[in-house]
Amino acid sequence: MPINEARIKERFLHLTALNSPSKREGPVASWLKEQFSQLGLAAQEDESGKRTGSESGNIVVRIPGRGPALLFGAHMGVVSDMALAQVRLEDGSFKTDGKTILGADDKAGLVAILEAVTALTEEKLSHRPLELVFTTCEEIGLCGSNALRRDDLKAQCGFIFDSGNQPSEIIINAPSQDEHYYKVIGKAAHAGSAPEEGIDAIRLAAWAISQMPLGRLSASTTANIGKIAGGSATNIVADLTEVWGEARSFLEEELSEQSQRMRECFRQAAAKFGGQVEAKLKRSFTGFKLSHRELVVQLAQQAVHKIGLRPQLVSSGGGSDANVLNQLGLPTVNLGVGVQKPHTKEETLALADLTAASRLALALATGEEK
Ligand SMILES: [Zn+2]
Repeated sequence: MPINEARIKERFLHLTALNSPSKREGPVASWLKEQFSQLGLAAQEDESGKRTGSESGNIVVRIPGRGPALLFGAHMGVVSDMALAQVRLEDGSFKTDGKTILGADDKAGLVAILEAVTALTEEKLSHRPLELVFTTCEEIGLCGSNALRRDDLKAQCGFIFDSGNQPSEIIINAPSQDEHYYKVIGKAAHAGSAPEEGIDAIRLAAWAISQMPLGRLSASTTANIGKIAGGSATNIVADLTEVWGEARSFLEEELSEQSQRMRECFRQAAAKFGGQVEAKLKRSFTGFKLSHRELVVQLAQQAVHKIGLRPQLVSSGGGSDANVLNQLGLPTVNLGVGVQKPHTKEETLALADLTAASRLALALATGEEK
């Protein structure tokens, strides 16, 4: 069997020892280049570093083959610093000592793709043309993939290895997300001797937020205020408060209604309290919905079957590089690599799931299971 579990384990432990928070993907990029060069494959770094602020560009590897050209993608950055990560394999699962994240999101994806390509190359298996894309800054707004251009990509369909789902689960539906920012400007005054001369920016923001529908709003839509900062001292009426939030939905109409409603609450609060609100609304990513008849979904289902699992077509609540590629016009699914509790210090990954994800990548590449 060309998929080598000992190699998968060794590479995963090596990769998780490299710290690579967003914008600092350099060590991972260099390691990947070296691995591909050992396989006789050239890895190219694009120019996106200038735009994203990352010390590395996206890494792209093209491997000629026969049949439909497939893009395999994973991201190199992790969600937070893991400089002192102590990673071990215990009872079949990778975990840390609980002081840092594991970074399996998305180092698991990198390892699965690299393992499939290593197996293909070593065994000289015939395979489909492959375009491997390893992105930067995914966790801070899909910035690396946003710098890709459709004209530069040769693939007909894409497979991102970056979901916490099981390797049998194929994400064909993901939401759109709007990012909200509000700068609330009030007026400072002495809180004890002249509070009536002030405009309390904290109270204005609190009132606006209290009027907002938030949380799970329907089967399709959620919204959250996730961060607030403001004021300077207990004896000063606060003249500034900043608020950050988001809304996401599988339905564009519901998303736009919800985003307008959130803005409207701040507008009314400004009118009621007499302060000013500067609102910024930004689309973070656009959702996608693929039909089971699409080639990309068919190929994913065939590959899951070939590794002996039952494919399931599922929705995701999150955004990934798959959102960006679909938006670029490249039909792309997100595949499960089995990461549990990503973005937390309890993050774990079963070696068996990582091996299954590697076999899935190989099955996709060859069109048959080996
Ligand atoms: Zn991820």
